[in-house]
Amino acid sequence: MKGAAIFPGDHTLGVVHNVPEPMVESLSGVKLRVLQVGICATDREIASFMFGTPPDGFDYLVLGHEGFGEVVETGPEVRDLQPGDLVVPTVRRPCDDPACTACRNDRADFCATGLYREHGIMGMHGFMTEFVVDEARYLRKVPVAIRDAAVLVEPLTIAEKAFIQAEQIQMRLPWNKPAENHRAVVVGAGPVGLLGAMALRLRGCQVTVYSREGESDTRAVISRAIGANYVSSQEQTPDQMAAGIGNIDLVYEATGSATLAFDMIGVLGRNGVLILTGVPGAHGPQAIDIGALITNMTLKNQCLLATVNAGSDAFDRAITDLTEFCLRWPDAVRGLITGRFKVEQFEQPIRNSAGIKNIIEMAS
Ligand code: BGC
Repeated sequence: MKGAAIFPGDHTLGVVHNVPEPMVESLSGVKLRVLQVGICATDREIASFMFGTPPDGFDYLVLGHEGFGEVVETGPEVRDLQPGDLVVPTVRRPCDDPACTACRNDRADFCATGLYREHGIMGMHGFMTEFVVDEARYLRKVPVAIRDAAVLVEPLTIAEKAFIQAEQIQMRLPWNKPAENHRAVVVGAGPVGLLGAMALRLRGCQVTVYSREGESDTRAVISRAIGANYVSSQEQTPDQMAAGIGNIDLVYEATGSATLAFDMIGVLGRNGVLILTGVPGAHGPQAIDIGALITNMTLKNQCLLATVNAGSDAFDRAITDLTEFCLRWPDAVRGLITGRFKVEQFEQPIRNSAGIKNIIEMAS
């Protein structure tokens, strides 16, 4: 089979033509024909050899963790899926440590050992290939109605996992505040940010998207189309942006910029939650007044939540929400997918991050 891969040993990328075609070997295995795969910053980092580990026995790693495919074959014990069904695979697979409570409870997204594997990232080939075999429990069924958008499920799961946790954290406040009184700021108008903004709008929150693009950029247009306010960081500092909002209950940071993420602690309101989803990597030490930071956070009952990957609950919520986004804001959802490439062209969107979400069309 064809597969878009990196060779970490000699720091090269290329299409491999002899990726072994997987077979359904277990009773609950499912074979998929991959239809589309999204590309994100993680893929770009892997393709810059910052991380990325091939499976045992391979000198290459097939890329791709934002998968979407069609079932072509199922093992004899698979009940809920059948050929023709559309599915999105989850990304992470459990570690083997019997003492890892998270992995033993099917929550590898909270793996306690760090020895998990991830499709297209760590120790397992990704989805940028023709066929994939996975266990049925790692596949989430997608309605035909969102076939054109289903490749956006995985990036949306990052927001959904974050919001599931934020909702639980805010249950510490023993009163009901109607969603329309919640003020949320989404920092960064990439796919993870804009999909997160949609999920917050769906729940009725007041949403401001704060990002570097100008006010006439497509990202600003999409933000307004879903009923969010858009503020460009070219026009307003974080403090100016916050002054126009009032007490900010939630900041959802989806830029990967360490400085911006940090600045957001300063604008978070009382009893607020700041969610970090970016992975900026090491940037060297910076002078900050830790005492002022802790004092401020403590006196405001603030909570910092960092989150990675997603469990099947977030995938299910993402599929339900995306179905609703497609009904409410079909043009905005369509506008998120800005580039489509054949697998042979995969290096183009990897090298050039222009657009919002670029995808590889593996099959139609
Ligand atoms: C993916 C996550 C994954 C993480 C690892 C993200 O891009 O969406 O599923 O766990 O990368 O760095």
